[in-house]
Parts: sequence; C-alpha cells; structure tokens
Amino acid sequence: MSNRYSESRIKAIMAQHKTGFSKKLGQNFLTDYNVIQDIVYGAEIGEEDHVIEIGPGIGVLTVACADHAGLVTAVEIDKKLIPILQKTVEDYDNVEIINEDILKTDIEELCRQAKEKHEALKNVKIVGNLPYYITTPIIMKLLEGNVPAESITIMMQKEVADRLTASPGKKVYGAITAAVQYYCTIDTIVQVPAECFVPKPKVDSTVLRLNIRKEKPVELKDEKLFFDVIKAGFSQRRKTLLNCLTGFKGMGKEEMSEFLKGIGIEPGRRAETLSLQEFADIANSIIDR
Ligand code: SAM
Repeated sequence: MSNRYSESRIKAIMAQHKTGFSKKLGQNFLTDYNVIQDIVYGAEIGEEDHVIEIGPGIGVLTVACADHAGLVTAVEIDKKLIPILQKTVEDYDNVEIINEDILKTDIEELCRQAKEKHEALKNVKIVGNLPYYITTPIIMKLLEGNVPAESITIMMQKEVADRLTASPGKKVYGAITAAVQYYCTIDTIVQVPAECFVPKPKVDSTVLRLNIRKEKPVELKDEKLFFDVIKAGFSQRRKTLLNCLTGFKGMGKEEMSEFLKGIGIEPGRRAETLSLQEFADIANSIIDR
C-alpha cells in the first residue's frame, strides 16, 4: 500500500498518458502515503462529510478521502488529468469529478446540490494540496465567500503557513494573517519536506487546518472598514501605523495621531504589532468619531 503512488509509478502513469507535469499549474504530486493519511486524519473526515478537494491531480489524495467521506467532489482545472483521475477513482461510487478552475467554481451551489442529492451529508470539509501560485486567492475566495464549510485542510508553501499562523509582533505577521485569523482558528497538521513530491518543489510545505469560526473573535460595526484599516496599516511595511494611516478617511497626520492616542494606540507602532482587537478598535472608533 505504501508505495501505491511512488515517484516511479506516478511518472509511469503520466508517461503512459503522454502528459507531463505542468509547472504553470503547480503540479507537484504527493508520493508519501503517510502524508496523505496525515491530511485525511487531520481533516477529520467521516461518512457524514462532503469533501471538496481542490486540485486532485491524478487522485492520490482523492481516493484516500473517499475511503472515509460520504462524498468527494474533486475540482481539477487540467483537462489532460481527467482521464487519469477517472481511472484512479473507478472503483469508488462516492467521487464526482469537475473539470473547472476552482477560482470560478460556485462552491456554495456545489454544496447545496450535494446536500439535495445525499441527505446523509451533514458537513462540508475542504481539502487540497494547493497549487502554490494561487494559495492566497483560493483561501480568500473561500473565506470571503462565506462557503458553508466547517474546515479547510490544505497544503501550502511553508513560508505561507508561517505567515498565516504568526502572532502579532512577528516579522511575518501581515494583512493576510489578520484576515485569516479573523475568519478561522488554525491547527498545524504536518510539516512536509520537498522530497515527498514528484517533481520535487524548491520549497518545503506545511498542512494547516483552518477551522472556520462560528463566532467572529471581535465585534465590528463595519466589516469592510475593518479590512480597509488592515490593508492601509500594512500598505508600507517599514512605516509606522501613523504614516500608513495618514490620509485614511480624509484624516490628516495630526488628526490621525490624536485619534490613535485617544483610543490607546501609540501612533509610532507598526501594523504587525497590532492585535485583531486593536484593528477592530480603530475601525469601530472611526465610525464613532
Ligand atoms: N492533489 C494532488 C496531489 O496531492 O498529488 C495534486 C496536487 S498539485 C500540488 C495541484 C493540483 O491543482 C494540480 O493537479 C493542478 O492541475 C491543480 N490546479 C491548479 N490550478 C487549479 C485551479 N485554478 N483550479 C483547480 N485545480 C487547479
């Protein structure tokens, strides 16, 4: 079982179908059975779950998910991989394949249709070994679109995972950190060295489980304004919060400085030191001003 998808086997399958690994589409396929199992157990997949898999490739992770899930919907952009994928899942009656760009897929509609057809499905769990070139857009599409999922268990470049899990004060804490931590709590599932893929990528990877919060961690009067404050705060990384926020909502330097001091935030701090609550305080107080 452990060498079911060894490097040589995957290369042979690709050669047999006269296709190569597309660098542009981020095709680095998993060859390590233990990592595949770690993802499936990390995602806590059970028979009441509808799993949406992003980028199934030739289906290594797909079948592992299908062994536990009620239904797996696998969304793969590359037309050339579809016949291979179909072959991989031929013995499974709980896998459906969609040949589409995940960024254009109506995920809410997918979930609704699945629930209509399969009454036993209770939760949606998103899983994927993501194409690195669009990791952030995919995560933000899922979170901002409020997809009805309980969790998102995904492999990404280690540096991106470090950024998402950073706490305030860390150098890698950025706008994306604050945004993702607003929507989710995060668990690290497993670190994955580059040797676990074919072809071998230049970077190591990490699997995170993003647990979508049922209740948001801060109270907001205007969610969009909160994200605008975060974006403005991180607009020039080496500058102080005061410099980054000067001009925001028409407030001059002097006015912004007084405003920040008034709500207990030192204007000389940098955005990466602010907690979600402090970003929320700024946004909420701008409305009350
Ligand atoms: N899940 C497989 C595995 O673990 O071996 C493949 C993972 S590979 C890193 C990423 C996969 O995502 C590739 O199969 C690639 O073709 C697919 N992909 C890339 N961009 C995509 C997109 N926009 N929508 C859906 N799939 C995409």
